[in-house]
Order: sequence, then structure tokens, then C-alpha cells
Amino acid sequence: MLYSQNTTGVNIGSNVMYIDMNSFFAGCEQQRHPELRHKPVGVITYDSPNACVIAPSMEAKKFGVKTGMRLGEARALCPQIIPVTTHPLWYRQVHIDVMEILHRYCDDVIVRSIDEAVVNFASYRLVYKDLAPIAKQIKADIAQKHDYLTCSIGIAPNTFLAKLGTELQKPNGLVLITPENIDAHLATLSLTDLPGIAGRNERRLKMIGINNPLQMRHTSPALLRKAFGGITGNYWHSRLNFGEVDLYSNANRTMSAMRTVSRQQRESRQSLESLLVSLCTRLEQRMVKQCVFCGEVSFFVRFINHSGWDTKVRLAQPVQDGLELRNYLLDKIHEFERERNIDTIFSNKVQSMGIAIQGFVSDSVLQYSLFDNRIMFDKLRKVMYNIKDKYGKNSVRKAVELFDLHVMKDAIGFGSVKDMVVEDGEVRNKYLLEEEY
Ligand SMILES: [Mg+2]
Repeated sequence: MLYSQNTTGVNIGSNVMYIDMNSFFAGCEQQRHPELRHKPVGVITYDSPNACVIAPSMEAKKFGVKTGMRLGEARALCPQIIPVTTHPLWYRQVHIDVMEILHRYCDDVIVRSIDEAVVNFASYRLVYKDLAPIAKQIKADIAQKHDYLTCSIGIAPNTFLAKLGTELQKPNGLVLITPENIDAHLATLSLTDLPGIAGRNERRLKMIGINNPLQMRHTSPALLRKAFGGITGNYWHSRLNFGEVDLYSNANRTMSAMRTVSRQQRESRQSLESLLVSLCTRLEQRMVKQCVFCGEVSFFVRFINHSGWDTKVRLAQPVQDGLELRNYLLDKIHEFERERNIDTIFSNKVQSMGIAIQGFVSDSVLQYSLFDNRIMFDKLRKVMYNIKDKYGKNSVRKAVELFDLHVMKDAIGFGSVKDMVVEDGEVRNKYLLEEEY
């Protein structure tokens, strides 16, 4: 991790990495159809001259084709543009692949959109000294999985500046913004180059005499409060001075766990069902650590033939328990199986599955009814993890954790560097069961 001193002598670490996939939808199409590579492609939602180009390829952008243009307009700029209709399931699969790669390095991945994510390395200061090599490795991992796709990565002390870093170099960028170089970067930019500053905000700033990002960074919070009216001004001052105001402010924050299924695993229904349990357990661990419960859970399964099924459940009461999550999902899954008259979705056609949770509530604000025995279970869960922390991972476990260790090990091992401990010179996951069980 890079450290430098700020003016008050406090160390500022560049902990935040922002990943933005370059021309994502068009890139996905070019990935799957090599004949489209290095050509101007316009992704459209339906085939008609009036259709909107929702995503131009990098080659089309060079001709001036922009997101949101009508196909006719785009053709006027670039007659050889190749219109391609969307394939959302494929884009989502690629998204999953990319998120899976990010989870290899860090547990705290916050999905911003299908092609953007923030990775918060704050808890990894001792694990990674410098994030630039990690960023290069992530690019290499993505290229290994999908060789045509590139991303721009920004590394900075906060989410806003990391995101700004991704804007500075496209495609395939890697930009570090540090206390040492921030002024040099800002000096080359105009106000509207800052994410979130467009027409109206630009006018507000100019009205108080701020004409560029450098001035904006070095002005007082009080003056910015005048421009933006209240606390928003403080946020802007903070963003440009290494404060973090954007990391978890996203109301749509999601935690997710997903897995690609091996050939061996898909042959056994029990193995697939225990994979579901292990994904739930994984999310439970993270909720316990962050002292939150979730209000919504969604689940998807993808099959080898690229078809898939997903579902979303609004939970009647916020949930933290992994088995409770699983039961909610199984209810939905069984309902679907009955409706379609299929034996099980956990068939030998499963390629990957994943769970995402949302709608977090802090455990400190949760109210329980006096007669609710959940409070006991919730406490018990915390105690259990505390015991695991203190006495080692095999000291306590739930019965259900026993039934397929192979799957359990894989799913939990995935991306959970935070849970890793070094024991006898070996790196192990402290919540994981030992091989011999
Ligand atoms: Mg993008």
C-alpha cells in the first residue's frame, strides 16, 4: 500500500481501486464473435434504423459515435458500423467472471454497475504493500479469461479519486492519484472532467469564482458550501482532499458470492446444494463482520447452454443467518420447480450460481420483539465466530457445514484474503474446516 503524509501529518494510504471495463457491452460482443473485433460495432436493443446505439465499440467511438445516438445518426458518422443486438445474459456472465477475479484479491468489492466496481483494500494494508502490481495482475486475469476485454483502473486514497483515475486513461488505463501527484493531475482537467460535475454544478462553481478543479481543491469548505448549498459542499471538499464520502453511500450496495461449478461438482445434486449453503455461509460471515443484516436476497443459476434462472426475495425481517437465507431461496426454487414440473434446478447442467444480498440494516438499529427467540440465535452466531477467532476454526461448526467439505473449502477460499491467517508458516482460512474432517 502506498503511504504518504498529508498536511496534518496523517498517513494517507491509497487503499481504493476502481475498475471500469472499457466499452463493455460492445467488448463482450467482440469477445464472443471474433469477426467483430477491431471493427466499429454499435450495440442496439432492437433491430431498426431508429434504434439507439446503447454501446459503441472503441472503434466506433473513434468515429464520434456516442452512447444514445440513433443508429441512423451513427451511420452518418461511420457508414461501416455493424449493429448488433444485446445479449444481457452474456454480459452478466462476463460481469460475474470479472467480479470473481476481483474477489480473488479482496473481500470488499462493491459493485457499482455491470461494468464498474470499487475494491476497498483498507483491511489489506499488511497483505499488499502496493496496489499497482495487483491492478496489473487483475488486468492479466481478465485478459486470460476474456482476451479481448480491457479495463481502466484507478488507484487512490478514496473512491472519488480512484474513479477519476479510470477516466484519465482509456482504454486499458492504470492511473494512481496520490497526495504527491494530485495537483499535477487536476491542473490538466476542467471542472466538467470531474465525475458528478456537469452543467449546473459547473455554473454554481463559476459563480463563486472557481474555474478549475485545482482551485476547487484548494478552496475552503465554507466557500464550497455556498456553491452547493450545505453539506454537499463539504463532501466536495472532502473528495478532492482524500476524504471518503462515496464508498458505502451507494444505497444499492450489494454483497455477493458466486461460483463456477466444476464438472465433478455438477454431477452431484448434493454437491450443488451444499455449494448453495456455502455461498450463504460466506455472506453470513461478511454480514457478521460488518454488523449488518440484509433485507433482500437474490439468486441466479446459469446452465451450460447459456440459459439461466434467477429470483429475488424481499425478506419479511432482516436476516443474517446463512441457513435462513438458504431456506428463503429454497422456498422460491421449489416453487419454481413445481410450476415448471422439473425435478430439480440443481442438475448436471449447472455452470455457475451466485447469491447477492442488499438492503442492509445495521444490527445496532434492529428491534426485536420480546418473544422473538431470534435474538438468541443472532447472539449465538456472533459468539460462534468469536470462538472460531479465538480457538481456531474447528472448535465450533454447524452440522450443515459438514456435508460437503470439498465444496465448502472452495467457496469460502474464494477471494477471502481477509479471513486468511498464517499458522505454522502456512496461509489458511480461519473459518475453514481442516482437510481431515
Ligand atoms: Mg465502462
